[in-house]
Amino acid sequence: MFDRIFDSHCHYDDPAFDDDREGLLAGLFSGSVEYLMHACTDEGSALYGIAAAQKYPNYYTSIGFHPENCEQTPDDFLEVLGALLPKSQKIRARGEIGLDYHYEGYDRERQLYIFEQQVRFANEHGLPVIVHSRNATEDTMEILRRLRPKGVMHCFSGSAETAKEVVGLGMYVGFTGVLTFKNSKKAKKACLAAGLDRILLETDCPYMAPEPYRGQRSDSSMIDRTAAAAAQLYGVDTQTVIDKTNENARILFGIGG
Ligand SMILES: [Zn+2]
Repeated sequence: MFDRIFDSHCHYDDPAFDDDREGLLAGLFSGSVEYLMHACTDEGSALYGIAAAQKYPNYYTSIGFHPENCEQTPDDFLEVLGALLPKSQKIRARGEIGLDYHYEGYDRERQLYIFEQQVRFANEHGLPVIVHSRNATEDTMEILRRLRPKGVMHCFSGSAETAKEVVGLGMYVGFTGVLTFKNSKKAKKACLAAGLDRILLETDCPYMAPEPYRGQRSDSSMIDRTAAAAAQLYGVDTQTVIDKTNENARILFGIGG
């Protein structure tokens, strides 16, 4: 049995949790989970994160517009986020923001604009960013190199070289249950390249469940499987990885203790 899990990226506002959300969260906090960071996707998601942070002492939140919501993102998105900021002391990141070129018909220019403006806003307010990047490594890295935010590249799918560059920029690299998959050689190499001081664990729940739960709804208690996969890479025990990633996330998000 493990404890002190910090899930650095979760979506408990997802409808997949509608039937059992509060019971599940209470169970997680009385079990192996110490901290949760809500990954926000739009304004409604931000309001959920702020409410959950008010209810649970160790629940923290980000605010931001996800690139998949690019079309629905209001033109005054910076004002919307600026108005949300004073609502909670537990807003500790701007996210999840970034670029997603996976789906046909994406608007590259608008995504770049919204991403860059949100990074600038985060820098102005001294907040780290939670970066989502899918099929968009070059454009993402160009903005990170130029604007140098604090933050994490979440659900990392890049190469070991890119992981090293992200770490070189002073950022962290987040790994999901993908790390436990048999065919995840690339993620494993990237995890090892990043270094134990620079990795975060995350579920991205309800998605990305680790083995042996692959394909099922995931929740933060399953992170011990991802930690075990990282522990095997580093030749340390699972609790050591959980403790270290807890410390890394608290440093990044400014959470004391
Ligand atoms: Zn996410």
